[in-house]
Amino acid sequence: MNRLLTGHLPAANPEDSLRGAAYHHVQRCSMAVSLEKRVNELRVPPGRQIDLRKDYDPGYTGHYLSKQDAQDQLVTGIQNLAEQQNKLFAQDTWALLINLQAMDAAGKDSTIKHVMSGVNPQGVQVKSYKVPSAEELDHDYLWRNFLELPHRGNIGIFNRSYYEEVLVVRVHKEFLDRQQLPLPLKGRDIWERRYEEINNFEKYLTDNGIIVLKFFLNVSKETQRKRFLERIDQPDKNWKFSAADVLERRHWDAYMDAYEQMFNHTSTPWAPWYIIPADHKWFTRLAVVSVINHTLEGLKLAYPEVSPEQKEALKKAKEELEEEESPIQPVRRKKRKIID
Ligand code: ATP
Ligand code: MG
Repeated sequence: MNRLLTGHLPAANPEDSLRGAAYHHVQRCSMAVSLEKRVNELRVPPGRQIDLRKDYDPGYTGHYLSKQDAQDQLVTGIQNLAEQQNKLFAQDTWALLINLQAMDAAGKDSTIKHVMSGVNPQGVQVKSYKVPSAEELDHDYLWRNFLELPHRGNIGIFNRSYYEEVLVVRVHKEFLDRQQLPLPLKGRDIWERRYEEINNFEKYLTDNGIIVLKFFLNVSKETQRKRFLERIDQPDKNWKFSAADVLERRHWDAYMDAYEQMFNHTSTPWAPWYIIPADHKWFTRLAVVSVINHTLEGLKLAYPEVSPEQKEALKKAKEELEEEESPIQPVRRKKRKIID
């Protein structure tokens, strides 16, 4: 059962809440209240212990009954994001880092494609993280992230991230064996240490104007199975299929345990996790764009103010441009000879 429906946590304000069976009726009636105002409900509450499998329903769609039902809000959300990103870019002070984590076929790629479809590509950087190269393994595990962090004014998306270091590396110990850490530092407490290191790293980022948003696209095992089968059955999706993904699926439970531990240790007030239901891609997109917009709106972004000196310079430039003769001369008509 979804935490949002079980009343697992007390709601601060029932009007604002998606939580709790008592508010189920409120949810269904409040179509006008956009998801953007209710994103807190998707957040993993810092300092609390969550149960990923019991509390979060991958099929949850809020008060939306269908894709069509959510379509207008998605379009508005994408437009709002474009506007926010313009201001972020113009202001050139804050940056936004979005970490996307998920099991295979949860829809990371298509979420990026849809959610970012309205934004100026110049202001977005996407980095996909793969198995570390030999050069990367020759450094500490955060090293490869530094140069990929978003520039000020930009949105950076990490498609997988440094969180793989407490997920795949935890599930497959051979990855840890390959890391050239000194033996005494590979003890059992390594995961706790990594959580702390990551929390500190994210605190450093936010203290320096890089806002950190973290999304887990929560797909169910059954939906993953269906999506893999589609990749096999539909020729235009064959290219997406990887036999390795089916092997990885065998470790589903170990991954869920690792994810749960990760949420319980790294959802912090400065960089919270959002668990996004991912069995319905249209809801995933709406939820992600809503959280991003909510976060950017909280920054109260604005186009930079023009100083009196700059205003004077604009006025002068305008006068000069207007005085300049237009290079396009009016076409002179040849006088026609009038033949009587
Ligand atoms: P898609 O399958 O949609 O293209 P993907 O993110 O699964 O997207 P892949 O190239 O299939 O991309 O897989 C990347 C692999 O790299 C994943 O299996 C991931 O677990 C692995 N990976 C990423 N970071 C690390 C890391 N630090 N250590 C070990 N493996 C990692
Ligand atoms: Mg993959």
